[in-house]
Amino acid sequence: METKATGECPTGRAWIELDRAALRHNVMALRALLPSQCKLMPAVKANAYGHGAGLIARELNVLGVDSFCVACAAEGVELRRQNVKGEILVLGYTHPEQLTLLKEYGLSQTVVDYEYALQLEQSGLPLHVHVGVDTGMHRLGERSENIDRLCAIFRIKNLRIDGLFTHLCASDDPDPAAREYTLGQAERFYRVAAALEQRGIPRPKLHLLASYGVLNYPQFAEDYARVGIALYGVLSDDQDPRGGQLLRPVLSLKTRVASVRTLHAGESAGYGLDYTAEKECRIAALSIGYADGLHRALSNGKGAVLINGCRAPIAGRICMDQTLVDVSGVPDAAAGDTAVLIGCSGRQTLSACEMARQAGTITNEIFSQLGPRLERVWV
Ligand SMILES: *Cc1c(COP(=O)(O)O)cnc(C)c1O
Repeated sequence: METKATGECPTGRAWIELDRAALRHNVMALRALLPSQCKLMPAVKANAYGHGAGLIARELNVLGVDSFCVACAAEGVELRRQNVKGEILVLGYTHPEQLTLLKEYGLSQTVVDYEYALQLEQSGLPLHVHVGVDTGMHRLGERSENIDRLCAIFRIKNLRIDGLFTHLCASDDPDPAAREYTLGQAERFYRVAAALEQRGIPRPKLHLLASYGVLNYPQFAEDYARVGIALYGVLSDDQDPRGGQLLRPVLSLKTRVASVRTLHAGESAGYGLDYTAEKECRIAALSIGYADGLHRALSNGKGAVLINGCRAPIAGRICMDQTLVDVSGVPDAAAGDTAVLIGCSGRQTLSACEMARQAGTITNEIFSQLGPRLERVWV
């Protein structure tokens, strides 16, 4: 039986199962899309999109991955504490008073603009950095037209500049206008790289692509591909069928049925009594709630779970730590059963994309909110 497979969390309250073979498959599949000189630099920020940063990054180390990117210095420190090897690039801002952490833990920092580069200089610390270039997202990076300032960053003595990168903000969108914008971003990025070369600055490693970039613009693969969501085996939504064809989901989300009871016709359940039994029905309480990252927007039948291969809709409002589901259609649902929120049960599957659509968001947000109370185990 699918739900009673060994390796699952036999006594867990709510847990994540990580499919090691799927992660390996995705690494191979993404590498196959890229030229051989382009290395994966997986995005393991936000606890590896909720999957568990230490577990994922250590397994990636085993698969020969030796560069990572994270959102902040604290995430980089945590990876080092978990014995993760290789280059770790902090994509976001690090406060000048925290820069010693970078040196202490061997982390690389993004230069978020020219003024920040001067602050890094002020610190006097020998720091490894990648210079961000703003080619049109207008979030971080020195603006691509400011060639003099970009060159000046490369002349700062204490900075060891390992990379130059940009982020494409519409690379998921097949629309002609978005494609044109993306090509413009790439052109502006390459113009910066060429200008640096003209001024005799040694060529740093270059990188432009995240997950959708790898799929849609492999011609811009340079030295690294900062893959996040695709590495975890899904895309942000189910618009692009290649998600399902090329990749395998790494994560399943499961919880324990705590109690099952019968409601009589006309009785209501849960906060605000949002759920009312039209006729006699059976309700199960699950040991997971919005504090675990189960979006409250899935309340009142928007979302569902699988128990013993049957679908059970969410009944009433999701609570902080618990959720009610209507198990009238699940013949023998009982306390102690496993309920699947993302993954397979019998012949049925609930995908992260489906949950994201029901919650009105993208898989990236669903994953990144999966909380610290969930146990994470390899299967
Ligand atoms: C999060 C992030 C990525 C990874 O994005 P995915 O779309 O999940 O692949 C890459 N680069 C930067 C700068 C990011 O912030």
